[in-house]
Amino acid sequence: RAKDSGRNTIQLFHSSMQHAASERLRLENELRTALSRGEFELYFQAQVDARSGHVIGAEALLRWAHPTLGEQSPALFIHVLEESGLILEVGAWVLVEACHACAQLLEERIIDEHFSLCVNISTRQFRQSDFVERVEHCLRNNRLPHGMLKLEITEGIVIQDIDDTIAKMNRLRQLGVSFAMDDFGTGYSSLTYLKRLPVNVLKIDQSFVRDATSNPSDAEIIRAVVALGLSLGLEVIAEGVEQQSQLDFLQSQGCHCYQGYLFSRPQPLQAFRALLAHAADTVS
Ligand code: C2E
Ligand code: MG
Ligand code: MG
Ligand code: MG
Repeated sequence: RAKDSGRNTIQLFHSSMQHAASERLRLENELRTALSRGEFELYFQAQVDARSGHVIGAEALLRWAHPTLGEQSPALFIHVLEESGLILEVGAWVLVEACHACAQLLEERIIDEHFSLCVNISTRQFRQSDFVERVEHCLRNNRLPHGMLKLEITEGIVIQDIDDTIAKMNRLRQLGVSFAMDDFGTGYSSLTYLKRLPVNVLKIDQSFVRDATSNPSDAEIIRAVVALGLSLGLEVIAEGVEQQSQLDFLQSQGCHCYQGYLFSRPQPLQAFRALLAHAADTVS
């Protein structure tokens, strides 16, 4: 009968929710352990200037070297870090680690101070009352020129207190730090917000790049984002560029910079250093 099957459905629903909740808790505990055991790593992915082909920056990307499952992408666990608040600790670690790596490359003269280091900042991390001081401290500790740091934020940042967000961003901008709007076009923010936020860069989300050459509406979105960036005086970076045809299209639209497997995958510092050294060889 309908009533019985309804009840069964609800029970099934319950048990699957319970399952999900306990899975989540298990993952949260594992992540806590991972943090204390130092199982997190930072990878670096090159950002390439569309015109010169030079590597002009890198995005630092979190990885979890899971003891049995191997390297894990943050796509699998970043939401748990965020919901549990662990992102504050992990995010602080990422910032320190990234600045330290960049300072090292600078000291080795593998990069110069025009290179930009991009670090992803979760909204929750940005909301910390002492976030500006934390960033400043980290830059100073590593003697990193402030202009080298670019913070990648997402559109979700405008959901709470836009005035406070703008004020904080401006304080960081005054220090020399710049901002990129990550995954642009996938969030909820309106163009009014974009106009108010002191960002320097728009990153076209990889979901638009993926089908740029086969799906006319994705191509149109890219065209519109690049035009928007140009008219607002922002730099436009495309992410997820895997194929030459995608790059050709982006180039034809006037996109400034790209990031993607076509040029290089995210890799550990040692391999990234080798890539930079090799790139410098082929250029000179
Ligand atoms: P994101 O910031 O948009 O980073 C770009 C993602 O695209 C990275 O995934 C990168 O590995 C991937 N990618 C780059 N080029 C290509 C390509 O050509 N093809 C494909 N299919 N993918 C490409 P990843 O490293 O798995 O990171 C996923 C997301 O996790 C990031 O997206 C970011 O939102 C978040 N994340 C990563 N590291 C951190 C971190 O340190 N802190 C915070 N808060 N979030 C992070
Ligand atoms: Mg990013
Ligand atoms: Mg992105
Ligand atoms: Mg993304």
